Amino acid sequence: MDEKILIVEDEKDIARMLDYNLKKEGYRTVLAHEGASAALLAAKERPALIILDLMLPGLDGLEVCRRIRVDAKTAAIPIIMLTAKGEEADKVVGLEMGADDYVTKPFGIKELLSRVKAVLRRSALLGEVLEVYRAGDLELDCSRVLALVKGRPADLTSREFELLKALMTAGEKMLSREALLEKVWGLDASLEVETRTVDVHIGTLRKKLGAEGRRIVTVKNYGYRFEAGKK
Ligand code: CA
Repeated sequence: MDEKILIVEDEKDIARMLDYNLKKEGYRTVLAHEGASAALLAAKERPALIILDLMLPGLDGLEVCRRIRVDAKTAAIPIIMLTAKGEEADKVVGLEMGADDYVTKPFGIKELLSRVKAVLRRSALLGEVLEVYRAGDLELDCSRVLALVKGRPADLTSREFELLKALMTAGEKMLSREALLEKVWGLDASLEVETRTVDVHIGTLRKKLGAEGRRIVTVKNYGYRFEAGKK
């Protein structure tokens, strides 16, 4: 049990207390003290769980939560939100925004640790059920971040993997270049990233997938679509 947990909390005493107790339980930890770096750290570190304080300087917890959910790299990471008493309305919004659970301050560390365990267990179970996609000789194993062709790793970069995942999980739906940019490049998609970037990555992805690459179908003047049933 050495899962990585990202702690986002501006109150240093609480952050230290969480850090100490989670480490004592055998978890690895990463700390952020404000919202903007929290979303970036989540994408970089890909923790198994995020403990997110609602009231933060700069970007608040709700906005951080929203950013984490729209970024393909972090969308599936479970979030436990910390709320202070009297933030009931925010708590509801938090759950709607995609937080998995919440704990009201002040909280006992035992209660928090048991929530952490429960959320991690739930997400592991969910992962086992949902995280493998197949089409022909192609297999996408999301929990191991691995694409296999005839059982052999296709050696994709993380972008190529996320691109393939976005296409395979869209259920044969057409995805525009812009939609793929947002899904795969997410927060990194600044103005310098052009839609042509998507075409370049699709090109290398197809090559690496060999014959299975033909399942990625070009939709002219629009984007791409994944055809699972293509012969
Ligand atoms: Ca706070």
